[in-house]
Amino acid sequence: VFSNVDRAPEDPILGVTVAYNNDPSPAKLNLGVGAYRTEEGKPLVLDVVRRAEQQLVNDPSRVKEYIPIAGLADFNKLSAKLILGADSPAIQESRVATIQCLSGTGSLRVGAEFLKKHYHQSVIFIPKPTWGNHPKVFNLAGLSVEYYRYYDPATRGLDFQGLLEDLGAAPSGAIVLLHACAHNPTGVDPTPEEWEQIRQLIRSKSLLPFFDSAYQGFASGSLDTDAHSVRTFVADGGECLIAQSYAKNMGLYGERVGALSIVCKSADVASKVESQVKLVVRPMYSSPPIHGASIVATILKNSDMYNDWTIELKGMADRIISMRQQLFDALKAKGTPGDWSHIIKQIGMFTFTGLNKEQVVFMTKEYHIYMTSDGRISMAGLSTKTVPHLVEAIHAAVTR
Ligand code: PMP
Repeated sequence: VFSNVDRAPEDPILGVTVAYNNDPSPAKLNLGVGAYRTEEGKPLVLDVVRRAEQQLVNDPSRVKEYIPIAGLADFNKLSAKLILGADSPAIQESRVATIQCLSGTGSLRVGAEFLKKHYHQSVIFIPKPTWGNHPKVFNLAGLSVEYYRYYDPATRGLDFQGLLEDLGAAPSGAIVLLHACAHNPTGVDPTPEEWEQIRQLIRSKSLLPFFDSAYQGFASGSLDTDAHSVRTFVADGGECLIAQSYAKNMGLYGERVGALSIVCKSADVASKVESQVKLVVRPMYSSPPIHGASIVATILKNSDMYNDWTIELKGMADRIISMRQQLFDALKAKGTPGDWSHIIKQIGMFTFTGLNKEQVVFMTKEYHIYMTSDGRISMAGLSTKTVPHLVEAIHAAVTR
């Protein structure tokens, strides 16, 4: 009965790693993967995560019972506090419904399913370009996806005018997906002043902001700085949704830990909203897993561990920032044609190099360097040792 099923294409992002794994060349370099690597090119488990796991394993009172549909209560409270700030009036007034979900993707999907069922608008505006999974997640939840201008290839910066025009022309009540920080794939974020204008426009048109926060602390190295955009929207008293992921900032990729928070106008509304989100979750996966959320809760509620986490997190962010500088300096030293200043201006894990598809194909074929076809490279996949090889390849690609 399945003989008519066509073979599906590889995922455009995960497929890069499949191709990389199949390449026998010792010179190969994977800059496609959106996961942190050490200077030695190895995955990193944070020391504080190891310690939290040890503590959990040694606690004989811990059992493997189901946890509630909404997840671990501690984890949910601490996650809301992490993104909104300890002194957030929305938390103090119990106006936030937070549900533990399966990392960032699961949080986006649960939020989208809830909106489809309970919100009057089913149009969601997402930036162009955006993380490739966004349109699929929202489409499959039954929302209709539209794009707003975001990136200007000419300046390799924000197309702020285009963004304001497109959101200004959006139908009243439309949902707007915003990357909280470290926009993926461009690495281009609005300035605080631009965020303020975006906020005013969104509120004046009664648009509904849905933040995707996949890189809190990973962009600037500061958890508070990277939450600035979300906090300004919550400070005005209006509603918003936030999808949080602990994949990057705690290195818990495969544990699938995240949270969906829905900021409401009153405690009563928040509790009704939470009851409905549980009805979304129950028939999808019933309840979330314990382990990853327990690690996060252990770290967030212990001030020593929290402090150690912020130090390790800053270490990751700083290594990425240093790789930007090294790549920029090496391209300048080599005299590679072009203005490469966007490499040090962009923020977060990725650099949107401006290399075109043809150049990417050339670099993969001739230099065994793997990246997504839009020219996005993961700075976390680079090291001092591999910068010269990448510079050779970029130089050859742009001077061909
Ligand atoms: N949003 C963005 C912008 C991302 O870059 C990612 C990870 N690549 C995610 C969400 C979700 O990741 P995860 O489901 O692993 O938390």
